[in-house]
Amino acid sequence: MKDTPPNRPLRPRTRAVHGGTRRSQYGEVSEALFLTQGFVYDSAEQAEARFIEAGEDEFIYARYGNPTVRMFEERIAGLEGTEDAFATASGMAAVNGALMSMLKAGDHVVSSKALFGSCLYILEEVLTRFGVEVSFVDGTDLIQWKNAIRSDTKAVFFESISNPALDIIDIRAVSDLAHAVGATVIVDNVFATPVFQDTVGLGADVIVYSATKHIDGQGRVLGGVICGTKDFIRKTVEPFLKHTGGSMSPFNAWVLVKSLETVDLRVRAQAATALALATGLEGLPGLSRVIYPGLASHPQHALASRQMEQGGTVVTLEVEGGRDAAFRVLNALEVVTISNNLGDAKSIITHPATTTHQRLTEEQRAELGISDGVLRLSVGLEDVQDLLDDLTQAISHA
Ligand SMILES: *Cc1c(COP(=O)(O)O)cnc(C)c1O
Repeated sequence: MKDTPPNRPLRPRTRAVHGGTRRSQYGEVSEALFLTQGFVYDSAEQAEARFIEAGEDEFIYARYGNPTVRMFEERIAGLEGTEDAFATASGMAAVNGALMSMLKAGDHVVSSKALFGSCLYILEEVLTRFGVEVSFVDGTDLIQWKNAIRSDTKAVFFESISNPALDIIDIRAVSDLAHAVGATVIVDNVFATPVFQDTVGLGADVIVYSATKHIDGQGRVLGGVICGTKDFIRKTVEPFLKHTGGSMSPFNAWVLVKSLETVDLRVRAQAATALALATGLEGLPGLSRVIYPGLASHPQHALASRQMEQGGTVVTLEVEGGRDAAFRVLNALEVVTISNNLGDAKSIITHPATTTHQRLTEEQRAELGISDGVLRLSVGLEDVQDLLDDLTQAISHA
């Protein structure tokens, strides 16, 4: 694409390949890695002017911004359909930055309780320590949202698909309830990826990602991003993050800007394989449940079909016989690897009760549907038949 893009709107897949490109004087095809902390000035006057107000292509210090990081931010904002984005060192820096930058003592937040462990820590232990009141609800129950959201509620927070039970939150309905009182809707959209749903169109105001997952998709770097309006990103998020140190490294931004070129193809292929595996494994002896939003048996299949194009890349299995049987299945796998990450090209499986959700009490785990037999399978890019063969032989050991 030319440096000046065509004067007509481009679709998400084109934006994911070309968006945000900043070419240097060499006219390189592949985005340059500007591995630099600082930037030089032609004169003392220029330095002064830049500190007063930096223009679009003027940078000061990499904690504030960097050309490679800026390319990633513009590309993901274009894909997500938001005006702007701020890239962060990790997904958790994004979640923390989105919440801490906009909240103050005395504010009220309503959150779904089915959260990634570190998100729960921020809402339950960090925010409350600074005088923010947090009410937790069962995110799938609209009555609970309605009762918990008050006229003074400042923000609502939820994961659009929960981990690992794969509960779906009705983004439009919760956003309508929040907007009625002027609250900001912040969505952790990792499981839905930037590809499967129009999160902004459904009503979300702020979307956060752990780019460590599907956006990298090849298990290399940590990263995160906050997507939102130009006003929210530049006036609320940027001052907080640039002064508290959660910015993304240029190297990681370079890996991730290139990954955005293929994220659409990768996650669509992974989701197609996930559906084939969920369909092939459902009803297999040794399994008490196969949970996948794309299966007709998922309790929220209708909502999933309305809200998302595909069911995502994660399949949750429940093995009969609890922890011992689940461990036998894990240990018998030959292609699928045991690890706690997700969204990778390599299929990865984890036993949440003893790893990612170990910190929770048995009661909390039961409430979130995390029994000792539950396994979370992140489906990769391998041949679908090899994965089905591997899982089938491993499950026979349950
Ligand atoms: C992994 C994950 C995070 C945290 O991301 P990091 O990049 O590991 O900091 C936050 N939310 C969800 C839903 C995740 O899966």
